[in-house]
Amino acid sequence: MLEIDKGQISLESSEKPQDGCAVVGVYSRKNNVAEIAFNGLVELNHRGQEGAGITVHDGSNFITVKDSGLAGIVFGVKNSLPELQDARVAVGQDRYSTSGSLSEMQPFLENGIAIAHNGNLTNIEWLRRKYNIPEKIDGASSDTRIALAVINKMKGSPQERILKAISEFEGAFNFVFATEGSLIATRDPLGFRPLSLGKIKDGDGYVVASEDSAFDSMGAEKMRDVFPGETIVVDDEGVKTININYKSKLARCIFELIYIARPDSVVFGIPVMQFRLREGEILARHLPEDVDLVMPVPRSGICAALGVAASELARARGIPYMEGLYTNPYRGVVDGPRTFIMPNGRDKAATEKYRANNSVVEGMSLVLVDDSVLRGSMRFVVDKLKASGAKAVHALIAAPEIKHDCSYGVDFGKKELLANTTPNLDERRKYLGLDSLYHLSYAELIEAATGNEVQLNNKTVFSENDYCGACFTGRYPVETRGVITKS
Ligand code: SF4
Repeated sequence: MLEIDKGQISLESSEKPQDGCAVVGVYSRKNNVAEIAFNGLVELNHRGQEGAGITVHDGSNFITVKDSGLAGIVFGVKNSLPELQDARVAVGQDRYSTSGSLSEMQPFLENGIAIAHNGNLTNIEWLRRKYNIPEKIDGASSDTRIALAVINKMKGSPQERILKAISEFEGAFNFVFATEGSLIATRDPLGFRPLSLGKIKDGDGYVVASEDSAFDSMGAEKMRDVFPGETIVVDDEGVKTININYKSKLARCIFELIYIARPDSVVFGIPVMQFRLREGEILARHLPEDVDLVMPVPRSGICAALGVAASELARARGIPYMEGLYTNPYRGVVDGPRTFIMPNGRDKAATEKYRANNSVVEGMSLVLVDDSVLRGSMRFVVDKLKASGAKAVHALIAAPEIKHDCSYGVDFGKKELLANTTPNLDERRKYLGLDSLYHLSYAELIEAATGNEVQLNNKTVFSENDYCGACFTGRYPVETRGVITKS
């Protein structure tokens, strides 16, 4: 997939998990709300690259622009931003999908409410049956489109309809809504995905965004996170909480910290960069004997590799950090993201993506660090390193083995996961061409998140620490009553 990371365009093959989107919302009387929403979507494009859309309300009408592609392509090349003097509210979404069509692009609009969503509802079939909603509405069958139809089955003002419907929703959801006079944002009670609230620096208005790293470009500063289960309304009177659905435990997606979020975001109160450095520090306990240098798989392994190299253990052994793999940031612009979601495009992507730097790797025994292993395209990287003269290639992976699907908005493709196709660790190591392979354990992962060593107890570690780790453990915090796969 095409991914923008830290302002650089790089090719992320479908080896990497795909998140189900980013959302932004803006309310301001004087500022250009569409432009602020656009800036937010550009900053959050790492969460979804298949399409982008913005809906504004201009005082009498809703206007939506949505199309396929990165936010900068959708609004910089294919369409113009709606520039409306009177618009006070905007909502927007960056979308990831495996087979997106224009009819599934967000925001959706119906009966005075525009909606954009990050997450996955787990009781959508139950909702459809209960409220007698057809499988497709205007060509769209996604959980978001059905959620909007459920909202509009309720009675009352837009705010009342939204609140009534939200109490029926289960799973992972961050919704932003635009109504005629307000911006409404809500986060699911278990807090799966991050959502932050900011204040526009000139004092005229507020923003919400999936990650707070978007706020700088939106001209805003962070106030706080939207609480799990909280619904807020922003209008001319300011921000107010209109509901909190409090649960005694949370299920914050730990994969946000491992891979999805930008390193400069603060997610669930944890600076993502610090979390990944801490993962690296823990991985350093497992450094093989004969290592000369620590090397990241760019760009996903950089933070954890820095953590390995900065650890006392690596410094005591004099093992430096070196980047020996080059990724051409311009290749994605030419190829486009579509090549890489085609099954036989993946291998092509993995081989073309990286070039090993002989001057760094020749004669070296190196430890490669990456955030996760999904399908095994790491073997192409290892091949290139060995062809460039690496004496040995070890791997430290900053996540446990991923064996289970995610029901909450991240697309792994369970059947193709290397941990399932090659369950034996030593066979997997050989398949990847590695001299050794270590995955962070689930207990070590929780240790990185909490800062405390955790005695792994399968029954308690999950709830005690308020994280979802179902893709690693198979223990799902919310049962599913008919999930619609992202389309
Ligand atoms: Fe995140 Fe994995 Fe849980 Fe999905 S299953 S919400 S990716 S931790």
